[in-house]
Amino acid sequence: MYHLCETLGEDLDSPKCVEIKDHLDNCENCRNYFKTIETTIQFYKQYNVQLPEESHNKLLDFLGLKEDEDNPD
Ligand SMILES: [Zn+2]
Repeated sequence: MYHLCETLGEDLDSPKCVEIKDHLDNCENCRNYFKTIETTIQFYKQYNVQLPEESHNKLLDFLGLKEDEDNPD
C-alpha cells in the first residue's frame, strides 16, 4: 500500500513509521482508516494544495509522529 509516512514527509526508516507499518499489516480497522486518510491526502496532492495544518497535525498526532509538540515553532 502507499506508504503514509512518505506522504507526510516523515522518515520511512524511523521506528515510528516501521511500527505503524507493522501495525497496519496486522490491523484491518486501521488499514480502513488509513485508506480514507490516503484518499484525502491524494486529493490534496493531485490539486497541488497543501494539506491544512490542522489536518496534518491531527494526522501526525494520531500516528504518534509528533515528537516535539512543545516546540512553539
Ligand atoms: Zn489498529
